[in-house]
Amino acid sequence: PRLVDGAAEDVERAAEAALRPKDLSEFVGQKVVREQLELVLHAAMGRGRPPDHVLLSGPPGLGKTTLAMIVAAELGSPIRVTSGPAIQHAGDLAAVLSSLEEGEVLFLDEIHRIARPAEELLYVAMEDFRVDVVVGKGAGANAISLSLPPFTVVGATTRAGLLPAPLRDRFGFVGHMDFYDDGELEQVLVRSARLLGVELVTEAATEIASRSRGTPRIANRLLRRVRDWAQVRGDGTLDLVAARRALEVYEVDHLGLDRLDRSVLEALCRRFGGGPVGLSTLAVAVGEEPETVETVAEPFLVREGLVGRTPRGRVATPRAWEHLGLAPPAGGPT
Ligand code: ATP
Repeated sequence: PRLVDGAAEDVERAAEAALRPKDLSEFVGQKVVREQLELVLHAAMGRGRPPDHVLLSGPPGLGKTTLAMIVAAELGSPIRVTSGPAIQHAGDLAAVLSSLEEGEVLFLDEIHRIARPAEELLYVAMEDFRVDVVVGKGAGANAISLSLPPFTVVGATTRAGLLPAPLRDRFGFVGHMDFYDDGELEQVLVRSARLLGVELVTEAATEIASRSRGTPRIANRLLRRVRDWAQVRGDGTLDLVAARRALEVYEVDHLGLDRLDRSVLEALCRRFGGGPVGLSTLAVAVGEEPETVETVAEPFLVREGLVGRTPRGRVATPRAWEHLGLAPPAGGPT
């Protein structure tokens, strides 16, 4: 089963990559970050120097990887892609850094998960364009310092708050990505439908957009599922019926909540009486890591006014009870 899952994931990844905007003008929404980034890039290009290091933060699927690729494309530079979890030893990072070309973009996804010793190497490399490596062992060990050509790190993290301050401070520009509104998601869908060569009716685009959790990755994924439905059960047109039926089959509710979102809400209301409950207790109840609950599910639930964060923990709002079709406890919700 793992093999099959892996293959299915690869197919999804490839489908995603095919829909990636290639330059800033194709990138929908995120007006603030887009403009800020444009200034950073164009000013640096005007000076003929690589731009400051860029940190992008925000929930998964909002376009951090896409923006990193766009940064490299705008600069006309090659891009090297790696991620925090792939860098478990300082040596892993030293190898990457010492092979960078001048002006290259180094994309570090999930940068908050880089191992500690590598993190320190990264500070120095980002600030002084230098990497210190120890060659040999014991008494014969030698520290040698390699100077690096100037390059630009683009870091991505689901939460800038998880980054140690010294690392965060080395980014000259921090862009905060926010959820997309329905109109922007519709634009993403129309563009994707065009690239996929399928006919997407406006009402269907509106319906899919409103159930995409403010997230382009989810919008594109749902679009592909609606396309499947239209192809197998319909006449190939992505109309409102196809959209509604497909979303029903894939258990996407009218707010776009997925399985994890719903299990967080269910646990909060049914097991903890609406809270307040601490993040780690809630995470155990749904069988997930606290970080996943906090960075993947919670931001959207909070934005939708379904969950509140209080100093004593997470609470269900009246809207959450209503969404689950439950009566809030007597005495009213907190
Ligand atoms: P993660 O951190 O989980 O990898 P991410 O934030 O890096 O997520 P991307 O992989 O960049 O997300 O984007 C996911 C998909 O959404 C891509 O296939 C891309 O086509 C689409 N997408 C993201 N942002 C936009 C946008 N602004 N306009 C059009 N499509 C977008």
